[in-house]
Amino acid sequence: MAEEPQFPPLPDIGDILDRKDRFEQKKTAVLKCRECKAKYPREFKEGDYVFKNLKDEACKECNSDATLTIEEIYSEWIDPKKK
Ligand SMILES: [Zn+2]
Repeated sequence: MAEEPQFPPLPDIGDILDRKDRFEQKKTAVLKCRECKAKYPREFKEGDYVFKNLKDEACKECNSDATLTIEEIYSEWIDPKKK
């Protein structure tokens, strides 16, 4: 019976959408090798999460298998128009 609540217009939403159209989100995972202690970033892959053991990837420094874990994942917004 209650009427639909009337929300005031939200001017910010347009700005957020513009930003999403214009910017591209780039996700990066920071990998750490238990073998040689190397730490380096690589492009985020689907299914990555922090503390995941990467059994099917070899360390790019010492080439050991199954020694990499994801230490950190971060994302940044890239403006494709800027070079
Ligand atoms: Zn290594």
